[in-house]
Amino acid sequence: MQKVFHFDSPPEQYIADAAVLCCFDQRIREATREFLQRQGILRPDMIVVAGGARTLASPRNDFERDFILEQVRMSIRLHKTQRMFLMSHSDCATYGGLAAFDGDQEREVQHHRIELKRAAELVKANFPELTVDCFFVNFDGVHAANAEPLK
Ligand SMILES: [Zn+2]
Repeated sequence: MQKVFHFDSPPEQYIADAAVLCCFDQRIREATREFLQRQGILRPDMIVVAGGARTLASPRNDFERDFILEQVRMSIRLHKTQRMFLMSHSDCATYGGLAAFDGDQEREVQHHRIELKRAAELVKANFPELTVDCFFVNFDGVHAANAEPLK
């Protein structure tokens, strides 16, 4: 193969600091990357798909949910992952954006809290050994979604 780009990558095997399920929305990518670094998640196994945690909370079909669970299983098996971050974000197109909540950010947050909780329960049911943390990303930062009990 013809080399078209030079970049030195670390060749060592690694243990993943966390498996991170998040949306592919480019607007939240930088915030997510910075946040993970600040959390000490320097070697994440990134599972980046449309909707992020929605694929477990409200999957479009069984295939979608099972595919994501298999990715988590692979992360645990291959990289000894012990922790998972579930993430969703404001104005996510897979939910119909903020418009689906009539522009009401509070309603949107409440909906995502329930979604993230449901996703976390599914992960814990499948992988009881994993520590699961839930986060909601909006346009001014990242918010912990599992700090207080959900209704
Ligand atoms: Zn999204």
